[in-house]
Amino acid sequence: MLEVDRSSNEDGDILLQELIAMLPSLFISHGSPMLALDPGSSGPALARLAAELTRPKAIVVVSAHWESQRLLLTAGEHPKTWHDFGGFPAALYTLQYPAPGAPELAAKIAGQLNDAGLPAELDAQRPFDHGAWVPLSLMYPQADIPVLQLSLPSRMGPELQTRVGRALADLRGQGILLIGSGSITHNLGELDWRAGPDVITPWAKAFRDWVVEKLEANDEEALHHYRHLAPSAVRNHPSDEHLLPLFFARGAGGTFKVEHSGFTYGALGMDIYRFG
Ligand code: ZN
Repeated sequence: MLEVDRSSNEDGDILLQELIAMLPSLFISHGSPMLALDPGSSGPALARLAAELTRPKAIVVVSAHWESQRLLLTAGEHPKTWHDFGGFPAALYTLQYPAPGAPELAAKIAGQLNDAGLPAELDAQRPFDHGAWVPLSLMYPQADIPVLQLSLPSRMGPELQTRVGRALADLRGQGILLIGSGSITHNLGELDWRAGPDVITPWAKAFRDWVVEKLEANDEEALHHYRHLAPSAVRNHPSDEHLLPLFFARGAGGTFKVEHSGFTYGALGMDIYRFG
């Protein structure tokens, strides 16, 4: 009996360790590149979230700023920091995020995606774009955790992102943090650059609230068809590359939770969601 008890305890301990090590997947609204210098309430929320999580062994980011025809993975040893934006203050262009790459993990993930019927290739030259490095600079400012980016075949829509997330979900149990970096609302042409955080545009809020309601209800069918079903969907996302990383995070993760919510510039949603 004692032996049986001990063995079931050991099993329980192993299970507990696995549960503790399981990381969530995240959807992060990365806002304007200025977030790196002027983090508002998002920066502290990202730092708090990072401090709560088990320190990841590596981080995989799907960024709205790496659109591609097919799935690609950064595979450089030391990807450069890319200031892939224009017209911002000079100080923003001096920021660096010198996190190491993760070429071995990239090869492993490419294999895993290929096995799932999702052909993926490596790109050893691609630098980190601001969709990846800006939020990471607020979460892990030491830049000492290996990072790789997975590209976004944006013409393939939400369903592909859900599949990609599902194909990589098991990495969460291996100490890998999975992040989709985009924006819950994203119509740059309708932003009010002088609006404070208390100004919230009704059509942006209505869209955001619809998405949260469907995430809470786990209504995948409605989410996949958001462009036809959600209020002011096309107005909030004239093109949908900034929303698609949400589907990756949801596909990869568990139970949905709003970690942070808010708007900047009247209509640019800054929500951060956690799955699992
Ligand atoms: Zn962006």
